[in-house]
Amino acid sequence: MVRLVVRGFVSVLQMKADIVTIFPDFFRGPLDHGITRRACEMGLAKIEVHDLRRFTHDRHRTVDDRPFGGGEGMVLKPEPIFDCLEPFGLPSREERRNGTARQSVILLSAQGQRFTQKIAAELAGLERIVLICGRYEGVDERVAESLADRELSIGDYVLSGGELGAAVVIEAVTRLLPGAVGNEASTRQESFTAHAGEVEEGDEFTGNASTCGSGGLLDYPHYTRPAEFRGMLVPEVLLNGNHQEIRRWRREQALQKTLRNRPDLLEAVELSDEDKEVLARIRSGR
Ligand code: SAM
Repeated sequence: MVRLVVRGFVSVLQMKADIVTIFPDFFRGPLDHGITRRACEMGLAKIEVHDLRRFTHDRHRTVDDRPFGGGEGMVLKPEPIFDCLEPFGLPSREERRNGTARQSVILLSAQGQRFTQKIAAELAGLERIVLICGRYEGVDERVAESLADRELSIGDYVLSGGELGAAVVIEAVTRLLPGAVGNEASTRQESFTAHAGEVEEGDEFTGNASTCGSGGLLDYPHYTRPAEFRGMLVPEVLLNGNHQEIRRWRREQALQKTLRNRPDLLEAVELSDEDKEVLARIRSGR
């Protein structure tokens, strides 16, 4: 375990992420901002980008080849990817897959399981994640079959490479590492988060702490100063300081937004009797 002292605080390395790519410079931008950068500076996360071409053995540093059986495009070869991961000294694939090892090798793929907040939370509990970025027509299937533990897709569309997906996974995971976000209560109350963000002992009791949390719903709407902007007013209820009313209003807004934009989420959410009444009222247009 690595400990670093940053600005007087002792921080413990919580997660190492390795990205395997043919475009290492791609990550200069996305990882150099906001919470991801801060988590690295604080020593909570360590991210290393590995240039796949360094693991080739020919003059042209060839990482791809034509597909067996014919067809369009090129396929990323397996050898450089296996060679790149070899020195990582990872536990066996079986140990990683059955959860006895807290490390995971992930292949970014449009054919993968859909990446969700639940998976982000699961990955945030690991010591190390390795993200393999595909390109061209994809990656030789032996990587998915024998090297990666899982394939993840960031959505039902096809990108040209896995780099954006890897950046998405890293950002979503890093912000869940304890200490990465200044106010941890805020990550408990966001869209998709499984547990409703009740006020817990130790949370600062501000107006914000009296929220409804997400509990698997979409987040409620947020407003800030000025209270009136170009004739548009902030809802009165948010200005009156009545935390119970604010909580009720936010929960109703979260239910309304989820019903409008992502009704599928309501099927997996535990709804209280009050929630059910609110939904029935919204549906009937009352
Ligand atoms: N032939 C593949 C298919 O139809 O599923 C698409 C290959 S895509 C052009 C090249 C690479 O981009 C993939 O190997 C993968 O790493 C990445 N990629 C594309 N779409 C993705 C998605 N939705 N999520 C994660 N990675 C994706």
